[in-house]
Amino acid sequence: PKKVFSGIQPTGNLHIGNYFGAIKKWIELQDSEYDVTYCIVDLHAITLPQKPKQLTENTLKLCANLLACGINPEKATLFLQSEVKEHSELCWILSCITTMARLTHLPQFKDKSAKLKEIPLGLYLYPILQAADIMLYKTNFVPVGEDQIQHIQLAQHLTKNFNNRFGYTFPTCQPMISEDLSCRIKSLRDATKKMSKSDPDPKSCVMIEDTPDQMTTKVKKALTDFISQVTFDPVNRPSVANLLTIHSLTSNKSIETICEEVKHLDTGQYKFVVADALVEHFNPIRLKVEDYLKNPDYLQSILEKGNDKAREVAEKTIDEVKAKVGWGLKA
Ligand code: ATP
Ligand code: MG
Repeated sequence: PKKVFSGIQPTGNLHIGNYFGAIKKWIELQDSEYDVTYCIVDLHAITLPQKPKQLTENTLKLCANLLACGINPEKATLFLQSEVKEHSELCWILSCITTMARLTHLPQFKDKSAKLKEIPLGLYLYPILQAADIMLYKTNFVPVGEDQIQHIQLAQHLTKNFNNRFGYTFPTCQPMISEDLSCRIKSLRDATKKMSKSDPDPKSCVMIEDTPDQMTTKVKKALTDFISQVTFDPVNRPSVANLLTIHSLTSNKSIETICEEVKHLDTGQYKFVVADALVEHFNPIRLKVEDYLKNPDYLQSILEKGNDKAREVAEKTIDEVKAKVGWGLKA
Protein backbone atom coordinates (compact mmCIF):
# COMPACT_ATOMS: atom_id res chain seq x y z
CA PRO A 1 0.00 0.00 0.00
CA LYS A 2 0.98 3.62 -0.51
CA LYS A 3 2.51 5.28 2.51
CA VAL A 4 1.37 8.36 4.40
CA PHE A 5 3.59 10.15 6.89
CA SER A 6 3.19 13.37 8.85
CA GLY A 7 4.49 14.98 12.02
CA ILE A 8 3.60 17.52 14.65
CA GLN A 9 5.78 19.30 17.18
CA PRO A 10 5.25 19.04 20.93
CA THR A 11 5.83 22.79 21.24
CA GLY A 12 2.55 23.49 23.02
CA ASN A 13 -1.05 22.42 23.04
CA LEU A 14 -2.91 21.51 19.91
CA HIS A 15 -4.86 24.41 18.41
CA ILE A 16 -7.72 24.48 15.95
CA GLY A 17 -5.34 25.40 13.10
CA ASN A 18 -3.44 22.14 13.66
CA TYR A 19 -6.77 20.34 13.85
CA PHE A 20 -8.32 21.70 10.65
CA GLY A 21 -5.04 22.04 8.74
CA ALA A 22 -3.68 18.58 9.49
CA ILE A 23 -5.15 16.31 12.16
CA LYS A 24 -8.61 16.05 10.61
CA LYS A 25 -7.02 14.72 7.44
CA TRP A 26 -4.82 12.36 9.47
CA ILE A 27 -7.94 10.81 10.93
CA GLU A 28 -9.63 10.39 7.56
CA LEU A 29 -6.54 8.73 6.16
CA GLN A 30 -6.26 6.05 8.81
CA ASP A 31 -9.50 4.60 7.43
CA SER A 32 -8.18 4.57 3.88
CA GLU A 33 -6.21 1.94 2.00
CA TYR A 34 -2.96 3.71 2.92
CA ASP A 35 -0.33 2.67 5.44
CA VAL A 36 -0.25 5.66 7.83
CA THR A 37 2.43 6.82 10.25
CA TYR A 38 2.23 9.89 12.48
CA CYS A 39 5.14 11.26 14.44
CA ILE A 40 5.48 13.56 17.43
CA VAL A 41 8.54 15.45 16.22
CA ASP A 42 10.40 16.31 19.38
CA LEU A 43 13.71 16.69 17.53
CA HIS A 44 12.08 19.54 15.62
CA ALA A 45 10.72 20.99 18.85
CA ILE A 46 14.19 21.82 20.19
CA THR A 47 15.08 23.97 17.17
CA LEU A 48 13.78 26.71 19.45
CA PRO A 49 14.63 26.62 23.18
CA GLN A 50 12.38 24.37 25.29
CA LYS A 51 12.24 23.88 29.04
CA PRO A 52 12.95 20.16 29.53
CA LYS A 53 10.10 19.50 31.96
CA GLN A 54 7.67 21.39 29.79
CA LEU A 55 8.77 19.45 26.72
CA THR A 56 8.11 16.12 28.42
CA GLU A 57 4.73 17.34 29.58
CA ASN A 58 3.84 18.69 26.14
CA THR A 59 4.78 15.38 24.53
CA LEU A 60 2.41 13.43 26.75
CA LYS A 61 -0.32 16.03 26.28
CA LEU A 62 0.05 16.01 22.54
CA CYS A 63 -0.29 12.24 22.54
CA ALA A 64 -3.49 12.55 24.63
CA ASN A 65 -4.81 15.24 22.29
CA LEU A 66 -4.17 13.19 19.17
CA LEU A 67 -5.95 10.16 20.61
CA ALA A 68 -8.85 12.31 21.80
CA CYS A 69 -9.21 13.81 18.33
CA GLY A 70 -9.55 10.32 16.93
CA ILE A 71 -6.12 8.96 15.99
CA ASN A 72 -6.48 5.21 16.40
CA PRO A 73 -3.21 3.46 17.31
CA GLU A 74 -4.62 0.18 15.97
CA LYS A 75 -4.80 1.74 12.52
CA ALA A 76 -2.02 4.31 12.55
CA THR A 77 1.54 4.07 13.80
CA LEU A 78 1.93 6.90 16.34
CA PHE A 79 5.46 7.36 17.63
CA LEU A 80 8.10 9.65 19.11
CA GLN A 81 10.81 10.91 16.78
CA SER A 82 13.65 11.00 19.34
CA GLU A 83 13.20 7.27 19.97
CA VAL A 84 14.14 6.41 16.38
CA LYS A 85 17.72 7.51 15.91
CA GLU A 86 17.65 6.96 12.14
CA HIS A 87 15.95 10.35 11.71
CA SER A 88 19.14 12.10 12.78
CA GLU A 89 21.33 9.84 10.66
CA LEU A 90 19.42 10.47 7.46
CA CYS A 91 19.24 14.17 8.29
CA TRP A 92 23.03 14.34 8.32
CA ILE A 93 23.35 12.63 4.96
CA LEU A 94 20.73 14.89 3.41
CA SER A 95 22.34 17.98 4.88
CA CYS A 96 25.48 17.05 2.97
CA ILE A 97 23.59 17.12 -0.32
CA THR A 98 21.72 20.38 0.37
CA THR A 99 23.05 23.83 -0.44
CA MET A 100 22.69 26.67 2.03
CA ALA A 101 21.06 28.76 -0.70
CA ARG A 102 18.13 26.32 -0.71
CA LEU A 103 17.34 26.95 2.95
CA THR A 104 17.81 30.66 3.54
CA HIS A 105 14.72 31.87 1.71
CA LEU A 106 12.25 29.39 3.23
CA PRO A 107 9.39 31.33 4.85
CA GLN A 108 9.21 29.41 8.13
CA PHE A 109 12.92 30.00 8.75
CA LYS A 110 12.51 33.65 7.87
CA ASP A 111 9.53 34.07 10.22
CA LYS A 112 10.98 32.18 13.14
CA SER A 113 14.51 33.58 12.90
CA ALA A 114 13.35 37.18 12.47
CA LYS A 115 12.53 37.40 16.18
CA LEU A 116 15.91 36.04 17.33
CA LYS A 117 19.22 37.72 18.00
CA GLU A 118 21.14 34.46 17.73
CA ILE A 119 19.81 31.91 15.28
CA PRO A 120 20.30 28.23 16.17
CA LEU A 121 21.76 26.17 13.34
CA GLY A 122 19.07 23.56 14.03
CA LEU A 123 16.36 26.01 13.05
CA TYR A 124 18.08 26.38 9.70
CA LEU A 125 18.32 22.60 9.28
CA TYR A 126 14.67 22.06 10.30
CA PRO A 127 13.40 21.39 6.75
CA ILE A 128 16.19 18.88 6.09
CA LEU A 129 15.21 16.93 9.18
CA GLN A 130 11.63 17.08 7.94
CA ALA A 131 12.73 15.68 4.57
CA ALA A 132 14.57 12.91 6.44
CA ASP A 133 11.39 12.07 8.41
CA ILE A 134 9.43 11.76 5.19
CA MET A 135 12.02 9.84 3.21
CA LEU A 136 12.92 7.40 5.98
CA TYR A 137 9.50 5.78 5.62
CA LYS A 138 9.58 5.95 1.80
CA THR A 139 6.51 8.16 2.03
CA ASN A 140 4.18 8.77 -0.90
CA PHE A 141 1.80 11.29 0.68
CA VAL A 142 2.28 13.95 3.34
CA PRO A 143 -0.88 15.50 4.83
CA VAL A 144 0.16 18.94 6.11
CA GLY A 145 -1.12 22.49 6.40
CA GLU A 146 -0.56 24.96 3.62
CA ASP A 147 2.34 26.57 5.53
CA GLN A 148 4.46 23.46 4.82
CA ILE A 149 4.32 23.43 1.00
CA GLN A 150 7.85 24.75 0.52
CA HIS A 151 9.23 22.20 2.95
CA ILE A 152 7.58 19.38 1.00
CA GLN A 153 9.10 20.79 -2.17
CA LEU A 154 12.52 20.63 -0.53
CA ALA A 155 11.89 16.97 0.35
CA GLN A 156 10.99 16.33 -3.31
CA HIS A 157 14.17 18.06 -4.42
CA LEU A 158 16.33 16.07 -1.99
CA THR A 159 14.69 12.83 -3.10
CA LYS A 160 15.57 13.57 -6.70
CA ASN A 161 19.05 14.64 -5.74
CA PHE A 162 19.70 11.50 -3.67
CA ASN A 163 18.25 9.15 -6.28
CA ASN A 164 20.31 10.75 -9.06
CA ARG A 165 23.50 10.51 -7.11
CA PHE A 166 23.18 7.12 -5.47
CA GLY A 167 20.58 5.23 -7.51
CA TYR A 168 16.83 4.98 -7.06
CA THR A 169 16.00 4.68 -3.38
CA PHE A 170 13.13 6.99 -2.43
CA PRO A 171 9.74 7.65 -4.03
CA THR A 172 8.83 11.30 -4.62
CA CYS A 173 6.36 12.41 -1.98
CA GLN A 174 3.27 14.48 -2.71
CA PRO A 175 1.72 16.92 -0.25
CA MET A 176 -1.95 16.47 0.70
CA ILE A 177 -3.39 19.83 1.60
CA SER A 178 -7.02 20.40 2.50
CA GLU A 179 -8.34 22.44 -0.37
CA ASP A 180 -11.76 23.40 0.91
CA LEU A 181 -10.97 26.70 2.56
CA SER A 182 -7.26 26.94 2.00
CA CYS A 183 -7.19 25.76 5.59
CA ARG A 184 -4.71 28.20 6.99
CA ILE A 185 -6.19 29.38 10.24
CA LYS A 186 -4.98 32.81 11.25
CA SER A 187 -4.05 34.22 14.65
CA LEU A 188 -7.01 35.76 16.48
CA ARG A 189 -4.84 38.74 17.39
CA ASP A 190 -3.25 39.38 14.00
CA ALA A 191 -4.96 37.88 10.97
CA THR A 192 -1.88 38.44 8.81
CA LYS A 193 -0.09 35.71 10.79
CA LYS A 194 -0.96 32.03 11.02
CA MET A 195 -2.19 30.58 14.29
CA SER A 196 0.87 28.96 15.94
CA LYS A 197 1.43 26.79 18.99
CA SER A 198 4.55 28.73 19.78
CA ASP A 199 2.89 32.16 19.62
CA PRO A 200 3.65 33.79 22.99
CA ASP A 201 0.23 35.49 23.12
CA PRO A 202 -2.25 32.92 24.49
CA LYS A 203 -5.17 34.96 23.14
CA SER A 204 -3.97 34.34 19.58
CA CYS A 205 -4.81 30.62 19.58
CA VAL A 206 -7.89 28.56 20.34
CA MET A 207 -6.62 25.37 21.95
CA ILE A 208 -8.50 22.13 21.72
CA GLU A 209 -8.16 21.87 25.47
CA ASP A 210 -9.61 25.32 26.20
CA THR A 211 -12.64 25.27 28.47
CA PRO A 212 -15.89 26.67 27.07
CA ASP A 213 -15.23 29.90 29.00
CA GLN A 214 -11.71 30.24 27.68
CA MET A 215 -12.87 29.64 24.12
CA THR A 216 -15.62 32.20 24.39
CA THR A 217 -13.33 34.81 25.92
CA LYS A 218 -10.70 34.35 23.23
CA VAL A 219 -13.18 34.60 20.37
CA LYS A 220 -14.84 37.61 22.00
CA LYS A 221 -11.45 39.33 22.20
CA ALA A 222 -10.45 38.46 18.63
CA LEU A 223 -9.34 41.62 16.89
CA THR A 224 -11.68 42.61 14.09
CA ASP A 225 -12.06 45.74 11.98
CA PHE A 226 -14.38 48.72 12.20
CA ILE A 227 -17.06 47.48 9.83
CA SER A 228 -19.98 45.99 11.72
CA GLN A 229 -21.43 43.72 9.01
CA VAL A 230 -20.28 40.12 8.67
CA THR A 231 -18.86 39.68 5.16
CA PHE A 232 -16.29 37.29 3.71
CA ASP A 233 -13.44 39.30 2.21
CA PRO A 234 -10.10 37.63 3.02
CA VAL A 235 -8.04 40.39 1.37
CA ASN A 236 -9.60 43.47 2.91
CA ARG A 237 -11.14 41.92 6.04
CA PRO A 238 -8.84 39.01 6.97
CA SER A 239 -9.87 38.91 10.62
CA VAL A 240 -13.60 38.53 9.91
CA ALA A 241 -12.85 36.08 7.10
CA ASN A 242 -10.83 34.06 9.62
CA LEU A 243 -13.80 33.85 11.99
CA LEU A 244 -16.04 32.77 9.13
CA THR A 245 -13.52 30.14 8.05
CA ILE A 246 -13.27 28.77 11.58
CA HIS A 247 -17.05 28.77 11.89
CA SER A 248 -17.57 27.07 8.56
CA LEU A 249 -15.01 24.35 9.30
CA THR A 250 -16.47 23.68 12.75
CA SER A 251 -20.10 23.62 11.66
CA ASN A 252 -19.72 22.09 8.18
CA LYS A 253 -21.84 24.91 6.78
CA SER A 254 -20.69 26.85 3.74
CA ILE A 255 -19.53 30.42 4.18
CA GLU A 256 -22.40 31.67 1.99
CA THR A 257 -24.96 29.90 4.18
CA ILE A 258 -23.43 31.37 7.31
CA CYS A 259 -23.31 34.92 5.90
CA GLU A 260 -26.97 34.62 5.00
CA GLU A 261 -27.87 33.26 8.45
CA VAL A 262 -26.08 36.01 10.37
CA LYS A 263 -26.79 39.02 8.17
CA HIS A 264 -28.82 40.63 10.96
CA LEU A 265 -25.89 40.41 13.42
CA ASP A 266 -22.91 42.72 13.84
CA THR A 267 -19.42 41.24 14.20
CA GLY A 268 -19.57 41.60 17.99
CA GLN A 269 -22.73 39.51 18.21
CA TYR A 270 -21.44 37.12 15.56
CA LYS A 271 -18.44 36.22 17.73
CA PHE A 272 -20.76 34.53 20.21
CA VAL A 273 -22.18 32.37 17.43
CA VAL A 274 -18.65 31.31 16.45
CA ALA A 275 -17.73 30.62 20.08
CA ASP A 276 -20.82 28.44 20.56
CA ALA A 277 -20.02 26.41 17.46
CA LEU A 278 -16.45 25.89 18.68
CA VAL A 279 -17.52 24.84 22.15
CA GLU A 280 -20.05 22.39 20.78
CA HIS A 281 -17.47 20.76 18.54
CA PHE A 282 -14.44 20.73 20.84
CA ASN A 283 -15.81 20.30 24.35
CA PRO A 284 -16.33 16.52 23.96
CA ILE A 285 -12.76 16.21 22.71
CA ARG A 286 -11.46 18.24 25.66
CA LEU A 287 -13.16 15.87 28.09
CA LYS A 288 -11.52 12.91 26.36
CA VAL A 289 -8.11 14.58 26.65
CA GLU A 290 -8.67 14.89 30.40
CA ASP A 291 -9.45 11.18 30.60
CA TYR A 292 -6.38 10.14 28.66
CA LEU A 293 -4.17 12.32 30.83
CA LYS A 294 -5.30 10.42 33.91
CA ASN A 295 -3.53 7.41 32.44
CA PRO A 296 0.02 8.37 31.41
CA ASP A 297 1.19 4.74 31.44
CA TYR A 298 -1.31 3.94 28.74
CA LEU A 299 -0.09 6.87 26.63
CA GLN A 300 3.47 5.73 27.06
CA SER A 301 2.63 2.18 26.04
CA ILE A 302 0.95 3.43 22.87
CA LEU A 303 4.05 5.39 21.91
CA GLU A 304 6.38 2.51 22.74
CA LYS A 305 4.50 0.19 20.44
CA GLY A 306 4.61 2.85 17.75
CA ASN A 307 8.34 3.41 18.27
CA ASP A 308 9.03 -0.28 17.69
CA LYS A 309 6.98 -0.36 14.51
CA ALA A 310 8.63 2.79 13.15
CA ARG A 311 12.13 1.59 14.03
CA GLU A 312 11.65 -1.55 12.00
CA VAL A 313 11.06 0.44 8.82
CA ALA A 314 13.64 3.11 9.60
CA GLU A 315 16.43 0.59 10.21
CA LYS A 316 15.82 -1.07 6.87
CA THR A 317 15.96 2.21 5.00
CA ILE A 318 19.14 3.33 6.75
CA ASP A 319 20.92 0.06 5.98
CA GLU A 320 20.11 0.53 2.34
CA VAL A 321 21.16 4.19 2.41
CA LYS A 322 24.46 3.50 4.13
CA ALA A 323 25.40 0.91 1.55
CA LYS A 324 24.53 3.30 -1.26
CA VAL A 325 26.52 6.17 0.23
CA GLY A 326 29.54 3.88 0.56
CA TRP A 327 29.74 3.64 4.36
CA GLY A 328 30.98 0.43 5.93
CA LEU A 329 33.47 -2.03 4.55
CA LYS A 330 31.12 -4.42 2.82
CA ALA A 331 31.59 -3.96 -0.92
P1 ATP B 1 4.99 25.98 15.92
O1 ATP B 1 4.53 27.40 16.17
O2 ATP B 1 5.79 25.43 17.06
O3 ATP B 1 5.66 25.81 14.58
P2 ATP B 1 2.55 25.06 14.75
O4 ATP B 1 1.29 25.54 15.34
O5 ATP B 1 3.02 25.69 13.48
O6 ATP B 1 3.66 25.11 15.89
P3 ATP B 1 3.45 22.46 13.83
O7 ATP B 1 3.72 21.35 14.79
O8 ATP B 1 4.60 23.23 13.28
O9 ATP B 1 2.41 23.48 14.53
O10 ATP B 1 2.59 21.89 12.60
C1 ATP B 1 1.72 20.76 12.71
C2 ATP B 1 0.78 20.74 11.53
O11 ATP B 1 -0.23 21.75 11.68
C3 ATP B 1 1.45 21.02 10.19
O12 ATP B 1 0.91 20.13 9.21
C4 ATP B 1 1.06 22.43 9.87
O13 ATP B 1 1.01 22.66 8.48
C5 ATP B 1 -0.33 22.52 10.49
N1 ATP B 1 -0.64 23.90 10.90
C6 ATP B 1 0.04 24.64 11.80
N2 ATP B 1 -0.53 25.84 11.96
C7 ATP B 1 -1.60 25.88 11.12
C8 ATP B 1 -2.61 26.86 10.84
N3 ATP B 1 -2.60 28.04 11.46
N4 ATP B 1 -3.57 26.55 9.93
C9 ATP B 1 -3.58 25.33 9.32
N5 ATP B 1 -2.67 24.37 9.54
C10 ATP B 1 -1.68 24.62 10.44
MG1 MG C 1 4.92 25.22 12.65
